[in-house]
Amino acid sequence: MYDPIFWQLLDIRDPEVISLGLGEPIFNVPDPVKEGVIEAIKSDFTHYTSTRGIPELREAIAEKLKAENFIDVSPDNIIVTCGTSEALFYSVMAVVNPGDEVILPDPCYVSYPPYVAFSGGKVVYVGLNEDKGFSIDLESIKEKITDRTKAIIVNFPSNPTGAVLSKDDARGLAEVADDYGVVVISDEIYEGITYEERSYSPAAFSDNVITVNGFSKAFAMTGLRIGYVAVKNEEILKGILWLHQYSMICASSISQKAAYYALRYSNDSVKWIVEEFRKRRDLIVNGLNKLGFKCPKPKGAFYVFPKIPDWGLSSTEFVVKMFKEAKVAAVPGIAFGEHGEGHVRFSYSNTIENIKQALDRLEGFIANNYALQRGAKAKTS
Ligand code: PMP
Repeated sequence: MYDPIFWQLLDIRDPEVISLGLGEPIFNVPDPVKEGVIEAIKSDFTHYTSTRGIPELREAIAEKLKAENFIDVSPDNIIVTCGTSEALFYSVMAVVNPGDEVILPDPCYVSYPPYVAFSGGKVVYVGLNEDKGFSIDLESIKEKITDRTKAIIVNFPSNPTGAVLSKDDARGLAEVADDYGVVVISDEIYEGITYEERSYSPAAFSDNVITVNGFSKAFAMTGLRIGYVAVKNEEILKGILWLHQYSMICASSISQKAAYYALRYSNDSVKWIVEEFRKRRDLIVNGLNKLGFKCPKPKGAFYVFPKIPDWGLSSTEFVVKMFKEAKVAAVPGIAFGEHGEGHVRFSYSNTIENIKQALDRLEGFIANNYALQRGAKAKTS
């Protein structure tokens, strides 16, 4: 597992540093969500709730899953959790026994390998191909499936690449789950944040899927810690419920009320958040490409994952140097797996002004260190 020395760097609260490392929206929660919080407090909705989560929230989630994701699931098959993190962790714990294999894409979100390690399972990576926009390759997944494979974890829209899952790939993944008897754990936390193309849910095509989602990203509710898991398989549902009941009892009552208000009354705010992110994405993609990074336009989430120009630096060396000399923070690609080496993850969850300033600083940083290469490139382009 990657030794995250860069987290220590990102923790330095130097006011001059511009962080393009953030994994959360800079926006505040929508007004209706604030009203939900206030309403919960005023009405003394501050006690334990049912372990599964308050019925009106589970009903609203079931309606959303049916209307937007084409997943037909009863509110009884939904468990509201303390963030998507809890939902993911317990999904892995419920499915994976010591010695089982779990297929992970490489690069992938930093928390998946630890979840597998906590369950005693073994990670088997499937490398994603940059030239194919970091989409999944079903044939490579099939090649990695053995008798011990229990689960495949996927995450679309993706952190760190911003790739989305096409309808064909969602269907294909569902077929793999059914044909090989493995469970797909689909982390759809960035689902609300897509631009030109939407992302599809494998659970629309198979019951062998655990769908995990939450309110941290599209509703900017990171601190309220609400996620959920939707699964038709009763054994798995029971396992996750057991873990949730005896470790958490229930998710926060106040935050559950807020999440209900998010789903019922905050659609316009989500549209606004997505449009704000789109402006930032276009700004950073154009800026980075002009500076010599190879930066395709991601279709979802709020990250870009460009290739670092050929300056002879590892992704960690580049990030540390950029941090020290340009005071711009980002995450090295190696943090997300070996296939992430050579890349850097910039989050564009920041103000337009800060992104512009970060790009200016990067330009100065490159001119100071790599003027020759830039000059040579400029002449040929
Ligand atoms: N999955 C992915 C891919 C994420 O990027 C994150 C947050 N960085 C999470 C899950 C966790 O989300 P939550 O705040 O809902 O626990």
